[in-house]
Amino acid sequence: MSRLRQFSKQNKRRGCNTVCSAASDSIRPETLDNFTPRTIVVTSGKGGVGKTTTTANIGMSIARLGYRVALIDSDIGLRNLDLLLGLENRILYTAMDVIEGQCRLDQALIKDKRWKNLALLSISKNRQKYNVTQKHMEQLVQSIAEAGYHFILIDCPAGIDVGFIHAIGPAQEAIIVTTPEITAIRDADRVAGLLEAKGIYQVKLLVNRVRADMVQTNDMMSVRDVQEMLGIPLLGAIPEDTQVIISTNRGEPLVLKKKLSLSGIAFENSARRLIGKQDYFLDLSAPYRGFLQRVQDRVHDVFRG
Ligand code: ADP
Ligand code: MG
Repeated sequence: MSRLRQFSKQNKRRGCNTVCSAASDSIRPETLDNFTPRTIVVTSGKGGVGKTTTTANIGMSIARLGYRVALIDSDIGLRNLDLLLGLENRILYTAMDVIEGQCRLDQALIKDKRWKNLALLSISKNRQKYNVTQKHMEQLVQSIAEAGYHFILIDCPAGIDVGFIHAIGPAQEAIIVTTPEITAIRDADRVAGLLEAKGIYQVKLLVNRVRADMVQTNDMMSVRDVQEMLGIPLLGAIPEDTQVIISTNRGEPLVLKKKLSLSGIAFENSARRLIGKQDYFLDLSAPYRGFLQRVQDRVHDVFRG
């Protein structure tokens, strides 16, 4: 029996309709007693490849499992993590206000409406007011960890200049997001080198916007090709999906949908892999007579390469 079918059966037994539901598999509070906080930067080099989408969806998935998760939007000029989470009207204070002593940290950590154990911290509302140093970033992350958060995900700005350096400063781990395009892969490779130079060795790869039809006709690199080119362990592969755009516009992460789209499943499984709850990849090309039927043609080769 394929892994996907096995997993689906498990979830059906739990009375859940979707292929995977993080909420139904939540962590027991006692296992969090001695949890060492993990600070993970989501980065790419190239802009527009899906860092913010990844931060929002993986963060939300982990929160739904019961962990306390803080997301830091360190992209000042193109701040949009608040929009993806539907929290844009709630930001009164930012990290800049905390640093300047205008408010407490908990006032700048905006709690998600749906999952209170998920919070968002924006660095600054405008570019002019950006004088955050690397030391500030490290202090902020330390304070968030001391406040009891288990996961701190830092959404990195594009490029490799000062914003990038500040964002990776406090991280011990990184997720490198790329699309299967040579320009994005080259930037991802550059970023991998910079992370290593900074002593960040726990790095995982997320390949986004994969189009199975193009992989099949050899017009797009397969996930395996990308992974082999970069030589970074794979966290997940996300298909190109119009649902991503819809969820962005609605301010509702994909992983919250009752019936997950394929990209939602892929994000949720990447989150589970990140926390060590799943050590295999869904075989999306295996014959399956359930709800995935309609997308099966599209995804045939995504994970096979
Ligand atoms: P970044 O943070 O790296 O700049 P974003 O997460 O903001 O990238 O994504 C850039 C654009 O690409 C957004 O409009 C988003 O909706 C779209 N996008 C990201 N991932 C996908 C996907 N898997 N399928 C379709 N559109 C996507
Ligand atoms: Mg972004």
